[in-house]
Amino acid sequence: MHWTMWATGGLGLAMALAACVRGSDGGATPQQTGKVRVSVYDEQGKLVGPIETDRVVKSDAEWRAQLTPEQYDVVRRAGTERPGTCALLHNKDKGVYSCLACGLPLFIADTKFESGTGWPSFFGPIAKGNVEEREDVSFGMSRTEVECGRCGAHLGHVFNDGPPPSGLRYCMNGVALNFTPTAKLATLADPIARTGATTQPAK
Ligand SMILES: [Zn+2]
Repeated sequence: MHWTMWATGGLGLAMALAACVRGSDGGATPQQTGKVRVSVYDEQGKLVGPIETDRVVKSDAEWRAQLTPEQYDVVRRAGTERPGTCALLHNKDKGVYSCLACGLPLFIADTKFESGTGWPSFFGPIAKGNVEEREDVSFGMSRTEVECGRCGAHLGHVFNDGPPPSGLRYCMNGVALNFTPTAKLATLADPIARTGATTQPAK
């Protein structure tokens, strides 16, 4: 009986964690340096790329100054917002979700779906290089963490129980995202969109 109770409780905990929940709280997420290839919006509100650019690297003090404590906890310390708390959760407007920390476009509204988890969910990123995925073995589980491809902001996790066409569920923290409606995509214009016009096409 005791074992059954323990097992039931353990299963419940594991399921809750598997839904999206936070990674380890061992300190600020280490940042990588170097070049990345990402897609960005130009001044006409058109997605262009991939374009090679530098990773965004800032000191912990700079991130703390830029972000609110809640934002910092999620994007720099792999925290998780409480499910159901994000205003973007039920947003059905057409547009683009971008990285709160560096402005990189991450997901388009057409890929958003209602997962029932309490976190904004998408079946695929806007472009391949714009998110990075890596193994996360915290809590004794093997999950795939999703980060911003340019600044390393923790966004959430990806699971293979999503809808067609990808079968993937990108379970995101809404606090890590900014939303821009389609009519205002030009406001996401990134300076590297200009340099991209003169660089070599992607290999
Ligand atoms: Zn970013």
